[in-house]
Amino acid sequence: MKYYSTNHVAPVVTLQQAVIKGLAPDKGLYMPESINLLPKYFIDNIGEMNLTDIAKTVAHAFFGEDIPKEALNAIVMETLNFDIPLKKVDEGIYVLELFHGPTFAFKDVGARFMARLLSYFVKKQNQENVKVLVATSGDTGSAVANGFLGVDGIQVIVLYPSGKVSNIQEAQFTTLGQNIVALEIDGTFDDCQRLVKSMFLNKKLNEQMNLTSANSINVARFLPQSFYYFFGYAQLVNLGFANNVVFSVPSGNLGNLTAGLFAKKMGLPISRFFAANNKNDTFFNYLKTGDYQPKPSVQTIANAMDVGAPSNFDRIIDLYKASYQSVKKDIIGFTYTDDEIKQTILDVYNKSGYLLDPHGACAYQALKDGKESDENGIFLATAHPAKFKEIVEGIIDKEIILPEKLESFTKKNKLSVKLPADSESVKNYLLQLS
Ligand SMILES: *Cc1c(COP(=O)(O)O)cnc(C)c1O
Repeated sequence: MKYYSTNHVAPVVTLQQAVIKGLAPDKGLYMPESINLLPKYFIDNIGEMNLTDIAKTVAHAFFGEDIPKEALNAIVMETLNFDIPLKKVDEGIYVLELFHGPTFAFKDVGARFMARLLSYFVKKQNQENVKVLVATSGDTGSAVANGFLGVDGIQVIVLYPSGKVSNIQEAQFTTLGQNIVALEIDGTFDDCQRLVKSMFLNKKLNEQMNLTSANSINVARFLPQSFYYFFGYAQLVNLGFANNVVFSVPSGNLGNLTAGLFAKKMGLPISRFFAANNKNDTFFNYLKTGDYQPKPSVQTIANAMDVGAPSNFDRIIDLYKASYQSVKKDIIGFTYTDDEIKQTILDVYNKSGYLLDPHGACAYQALKDGKESDENGIFLATAHPAKFKEIVEGIIDKEIILPEKLESFTKKNKLSVKLPADSESVKNYLLQLS
C-alpha cells in the first residue's frame, strides 16, 4: 500500500516510510491510497468472532500488503491483551470502555501498536538513533511513553505544557526513565505541537537523527483505533441491537473519530457519528457553518480534548473529498462547557451509578441530546474516571479509589527537564541527547 500526503505535494511513500516519518515533508498527513472493503461474510458474522480475530482481520486490511501475516498477527496479539466490554448505561445507550491498558486511557492501543510496528521496521532496516517526538495534552504522552517503554533502539521524547496536565497524567510519563525523556514546556499544548512540527522540519536535526512522531498524525497510531468500532458493533450484534448504530466520540485532535470514519468506509454499518467537543469547539463550528477556523486552545476539565487546531481535520476533509455536505451527512457536532460536563457526570452517577470521566461525559451527553429513539448509540469512554480523581471527586462528593497500577506511578520521582517554548532550546536539547 502506498501513502500520499493530504497536501499532495510530497511524493507517495511506503508504509514503512510513512510510519518512520510521521508527518509528510510538505506538512501534510499520510493517507492510504485505498481503503480495503472488508468481505460481507466478515461483517455478517462479526458477532461470533473474538476481539483479537476481528482486530487481525482489520489490521490485515490496512497493513497486510506490507508486513508478513505472522509478524502482523503477533503485533495485534501483543497490543490487545485485554478485554473491551460493552455495557448498557441508559435506554439505547451503551458504553465501550477503552481504558484497560497500562495508562487507563484509549490511546494505549494505538501507542502499543505503533511501538511494535516501528520496532519491526527499525530492526528490518538496521536503523540507529531513532527518536520518537510527541506533544501531549496529557494522555498521548503517557500512552506513548508506556507503549514504547523498554523497546530497543528507540528513544521517546515527550513535550508537555507545564502545569496543564493532571498530576497522575504527568506521573505516567515523567517517572519512567529508561528510554523515555519528558520535556516540561513553559507554554500551551498548541506550543508543544508547534515545537514538534518545527523539529521535523529542522534540517540539522534530521541529519543527525531519525525523528518520527507518535501523535495521532502517525498512521500506525491512528489507524488501529478503528478496531474499537468493530469491537463495539460486534457486541451490539450479540445483544440484538445492531440496527441504526451511531458512535459518539469525545474529540480533540480527531484521530479517534477519523479512525471510525475509516471503519465505516471499510463497510462497518455505522449510520452516523457524533463528534463531542468540550469548549474547544473548532470542529463543532466547522460542522455548523462549513467554515474551518482554528484558534488557540482553552483549558477545560476534559483536557485531553483541549485542542484548537485539530490535526486530523485534514484527513477528514481528504476522506470526504472536501465536500462539506457529505461530512455533515455523516457527522453531527456537539460542544459542552465544564459546567455541563460536571452536571452530566453527577446526573448519570446519581441515576445509574455509572461513573463517567470528563471526556466520556461529553460523548454520553451528545448521545442523550442527539440520538433518535430508533438509533442504538455507543459512546466511547476514553479514560478511567480515576485519572481525573480531584475533579470527579469534587463533582460526586465521594472518594474514588485509584486502581493500583495508576497509584504506583504517583509514588515515583519526577524526572522531567524544564524548557521555554522556543524551538532553539528544544533543538539544542535534542542535539546533545544523541
Ligand atoms: C486523546 C483523547 C481524546 C481525544 O481523542 P482525539 O483522537 O485526539 O480526538 C479524548 N479523550 C481522551 C481521554 C484522550 O486521551
